[in-house]
Amino acid sequence: MAETLYHFINGERTAGDSGRFGDVFNPATGEVSGNLPYASPADVDQAVQSGLAAQPAWEATASPRRAAVIFKFRELVIQNMDKIAELVGREHGKTIEDAKGSIQRGIDVTEFACGIPHLLKGELSTNVGGGIDTFSMREAVGVVGGITPFNFPVMIPCWMGVMAIACGNAFINKPSERDPSAPLFLAELWKEAGLPDGIWNVVNGDKDAVNALIQHPDVPAISFVGSTLVGEHVYQSGTALNKRVQAFCGAKNHLIVMPDADMDQTVDALMGSGYGSAGERCMAVSVAVPVGKDTADELVKRLEPRVRSLKIGPYNDPAADMGPLITAEAKKRVEGYIDQGVEAGADLVVDGRGTALQGYENGNFVGGTLFDRVTTDMSIYKDEIFGPVLSVARANDFDAAVEMVNGHEYANGVAIFTRDGDAARAFTDQVDVGMIGVNVPIPVPMAFHHFGGSKRSKFGDTQMHGPQSINFFTKMKTISGRWPSGIREGAQFTMPTNR
Ligand code: NAD
Repeated sequence: MAETLYHFINGERTAGDSGRFGDVFNPATGEVSGNLPYASPADVDQAVQSGLAAQPAWEATASPRRAAVIFKFRELVIQNMDKIAELVGREHGKTIEDAKGSIQRGIDVTEFACGIPHLLKGELSTNVGGGIDTFSMREAVGVVGGITPFNFPVMIPCWMGVMAIACGNAFINKPSERDPSAPLFLAELWKEAGLPDGIWNVVNGDKDAVNALIQHPDVPAISFVGSTLVGEHVYQSGTALNKRVQAFCGAKNHLIVMPDADMDQTVDALMGSGYGSAGERCMAVSVAVPVGKDTADELVKRLEPRVRSLKIGPYNDPAADMGPLITAEAKKRVEGYIDQGVEAGADLVVDGRGTALQGYENGNFVGGTLFDRVTTDMSIYKDEIFGPVLSVARANDFDAAVEMVNGHEYANGVAIFTRDGDAARAFTDQVDVGMIGVNVPIPVPMAFHHFGGSKRSKFGDTQMHGPQSINFFTKMKTISGRWPSGIREGAQFTMPTNR
């Protein structure tokens, strides 16, 4: 029986008034598991109004007291880890252990946000001239929107939302319509943690809800994570309305294999980063770039049996390395890319098309796929496939590998595997990519550092989490004051200076 889902507005579950609904599926079985209301602009407005009503008092709450609520939320997430991982697995399809890892990354940001009293400390200069002290202070932006993708339904709402509310804002999450149950449960946990109603709302739905958030005059800031075309639309339409927008988008992440790399370590790294979560990660490695023919031949020889023996299964199979793709359309799209790779002349070393699992015949499974001799003009190289497809694109030398990385329109993450410090240093200097790993395949920075790509993988100036998130979720005021105030300088008609 499909579960009836809801929006979470002002501390209450509501079906809203749009009359529009969509199905949520279990990707392993193809069965409908939920019936989700899609918000209308009026539903979005209701969420904004509840945020507007609650936000001033929340911002006025002393930051250590806000931190205490966030700390309580952290405890509740830890206590409910199994339940949340089950919700993620059932609707997303990733394995339980993978889901738990991603939830932990959300907890990491929550722990960082518990330090909000320290993070909000301003700047002070005493006696900048004539007994005047100057200090800066940060204020919340107001009611902020957070539009999140299907692939991390807990981690990404936490990345943006926890920092937003820590800074004293109200947050409206518009999660992916593919897997809304875990983000809805987070809102319930916030209520239990003592967060005032209206500070963390969830509106469900599709582009109508997103566009209503962007266009709402009382939502001055939008944080977005998702695909590049949608992110670009959100960024352009939000900034055209003079809003603050940050959009973290699609990717094609390369892993360079130098001839001196530890091959065992490199192959392990490629297996996990290429096929973990069925390749549905913005930091998944989808292109391996071995440098030199010998390196390439050795790499493909070692990868082939490992890819063939990948264990595919539903989220609750403890032996599974990876689960199904999110939707039947995603399976069709990924298999279509494999067709295109074959037609373009790449060597299909392992073919994941037509994978069917006994008992899960209607699941969206695609097996691990490996291409060799992929070239930069092929669609399987240029596009983000977002599936378990690893392309080997051979490079003659280090410079050609760097040129390949820098020639791609996406620039989220990249890695180099080598034992040579000089090569690693030259690589980190020369590549124009946001997050770089040296013998680290998925260089997702910890919560106290910044996350973000460059080029068409990110629109906007600020990074996700880390101290820069404070810049995004606050406005700065700078105050110059003089005490005692009785100093008389007479009327001054020239520009005041301290000279
Ligand atoms: P998506 O762009 O389809 O959806 C993201 C959000 O936008 C969802 O909430 C969705 O409802 C909404 N949306 C979809 N179409 C829309 C439209 N036409 N107008 C307005 N809103 C719309 O992305 P997805 O498929 O959920 O997630 C996968 C994508 O997200 C991949 O491209 C992946 O690389 C990217 N991603 C990027 C990062 C990062 O940090 N760079 C992290 C995770 C995922």
